[in-house]
Amino acid sequence: MKKSLILCLAFSMLAMALYAQTDKEKAASTVNKNTIESHIKFLSDDLLEGREAGTKGNKIAASYLANQLRKFGAKPISGTGTYYQNFDLLQSSAPNFVELNLNEVAYPLLASFKLPEMEQSGEAVFLGYGTEDDFKVESVSGKMVVVLAGIEAGQDPGQMFRSSRKKVELAKSMGAKGLLELVQFDEAMWSRIKHYVDQGTEVKNVNETSEIPHIWVNTKTTHPGFTKSMQLSYSLKSDGKTKTTLHTQNVVGTIEGTDPILKKEYVIYSAHYDHVGIGQPNAEGDSIYNGARDNNIGVTAVLSMLENLAKYPTKRSALFILFTAEEKGLLGSQYYADHPLIPLEQVSYCFNTDGGGYNDTSLATIVGLERTSAEELIIEGAGAFGLKAIGDPAPEQGLFDRSDNVNFAKKGIPAPTYSTGFDSFDDEIMKYYHQANDEADSLDYDYLLQFYQGYVYSGRLIANSSKKLFWKEGDKYEAAGKALYGMK
Ligand SMILES: [Zn+2]
Repeated sequence: MKKSLILCLAFSMLAMALYAQTDKEKAASTVNKNTIESHIKFLSDDLLEGREAGTKGNKIAASYLANQLRKFGAKPISGTGTYYQNFDLLQSSAPNFVELNLNEVAYPLLASFKLPEMEQSGEAVFLGYGTEDDFKVESVSGKMVVVLAGIEAGQDPGQMFRSSRKKVELAKSMGAKGLLELVQFDEAMWSRIKHYVDQGTEVKNVNETSEIPHIWVNTKTTHPGFTKSMQLSYSLKSDGKTKTTLHTQNVVGTIEGTDPILKKEYVIYSAHYDHVGIGQPNAEGDSIYNGARDNNIGVTAVLSMLENLAKYPTKRSALFILFTAEEKGLLGSQYYADHPLIPLEQVSYCFNTDGGGYNDTSLATIVGLERTSAEELIIEGAGAFGLKAIGDPAPEQGLFDRSDNVNFAKKGIPAPTYSTGFDSFDDEIMKYYHQANDEADSLDYDYLLQFYQGYVYSGRLIANSSKKLFWKEGDKYEAAGKALYGMK
């Protein structure tokens, strides 16, 4: 009796000692240099051939990640027993030929978003900028619609791309034969845009209805002078774009939280694991783009969090997502956000990590730092391991909207991106960013140790916080957040 009482006392004292371990100590205790180096070195091996979505190397990386989730006891995707969220991409290449005439004048400078094999001619109608009102004026059924790209107030390429989608929808819903948008670009700009438009990759949509041709027509320096509602004739002939299907996968797992109430909420820890594959060789003849920085550094942050939470779960539950196809236009995160495996309103934060490299090892750069209520927690988390957390140093680059976090932000989930320290896009960054030189043996692992401990500690502070996690007032995504979480 006495003996068991003493034992009992000893155990409870031990339990108290464990309980007393702080989040900072927990973060420091599971992140070590050998482990992080081993993740980065394996994932950056030439064997994986740059991990391009849809390739064997991409699948090898996914297998490695799924097995890390398995090793640390993360739960697979509910009802499937697997950690893979499989889906297909369609990668298209330019048609071999396309011939367009409007009122019997040939327009040879064409970039095709959508273009099936076809040979047709008939009536076309010009609708100005193709606003909703413009479409109301004319019957477009059975006709090719011709419009100016962009909106009256803005004709920069970004605006043209953004306004394009709506015009296609209008044309399609009103039974038009297709949509031709007139653009004006000089040669250098046009060649970049044409390449981007002709070669695009998209998520394969199994429900996609038949598509209508959608083409940008570069009229170079002057528009042909069509006036609104002008009736035209057209002919269009092409062998169509070719499309290749790529099979790829996000890698997903969860660890349940400890708090009976807060565990219903999830924090996403995410990073993209794909890279750009094989490309132009560098001066040494190396053509494999191993992407050690972009983004094996980020992937290893998620794996560090996984290992930590397996040992010391937090109050909120954890949702680990390793995205594919970021390099093809944030497609893996887009697919996940459109096909979530945990209802999005149960996800209270997305702590993404991504980056092209670093030029200051006294920093952690968090794109979106000052935009969410976790700002202080992240500053504290990184600061505890000797790193100064700074916000986006180059807002003009639009980094917040160029990484996977944005697909969650658009849904309303507060979602910054934690990156290695950089304070500008200088030569040190550009030397590695999307270059064959981005190799594992050029990394500073002492710095990375601090960086990961800071990430893990920040993640723990976020996931244990009793505060509501949300956007700062007035943020661009605040309204989406209120809608998602049903807030007033
Ligand atoms: Zn990249």
